[in-house]
Amino acid sequence: MNGYAMETWTLNPLPFRLDVDQLQQKLHVRAGSANEAEFRRLVAEATAIARPKAIYRTAFIEAKEDEAVIIAGIRFASRVLRVNLDAINRVFAFVATSGRELEAWAAARDGLLDRFWADAINQAVLISAVGSLRAHLSERFAVPQLMVMNPGSLADWPLREQRALFRLLGDVEAAVGVTLTPSLLMTPTKSVSGIFFPSEETFASCQLCPREACPNRRAPYDPELFAKKYARMETP
Ligand code: SF4
Repeated sequence: MNGYAMETWTLNPLPFRLDVDQLQQKLHVRAGSANEAEFRRLVAEATAIARPKAIYRTAFIEAKEDEAVIIAGIRFASRVLRVNLDAINRVFAFVATSGRELEAWAAARDGLLDRFWADAINQAVLISAVGSLRAHLSERFAVPQLMVMNPGSLADWPLREQRALFRLLGDVEAAVGVTLTPSLLMTPTKSVSGIFFPSEETFASCQLCPREACPNRRAPYDPELFAKKYARMETP
């Protein structure tokens, strides 16, 4: 059922698709092996059980400071977010999750290998579901290209900003079953929070993140980008 209250929407279930061949290759499960049968059984089970969901809110930017933006009355402190939203008035705040159903399923797997695969399958469901949310927003709001920022992905926009994001979205737990731990991580762990924004330029936080050997890197690190685009103008 898809529902809404005010400008906040819930997508439940959020569509997803698992490319089992691609996932099998990524996880080095050899074709024709006994492992392959077990792996494919797990993928089929997860596909039947998974119920990813998302809550999102369209919100207008009310003010722009040097290193923060005020969105629907809530202040978000990040120079990078501020610059990325320079020419924009409306954003899409969201939390998406692969869901408690799949989390419980993954936690109940026995054995190291099954647990490892279940975790990877769960992650793949989340990635696909977030892609569905992006496609839904693009189509519904006629925005050809959406970029995203996630609190906690850069020192410039730390994890403590989760509080502001969750406040903006309202009762996230009731809508999609996602809660924040005292250390501001999300439960279920296979959840993503952030702000989608329209942009003609491509942006990924990874461009500003020097972390080496990150398995989730989506773009190469650009050591000059921060100074070129996000450094504060010194006042004379
Ligand atoms: S490189 Fe890794 S840690 Fe850094 S922003 Fe990208 S996904 Fe996050």
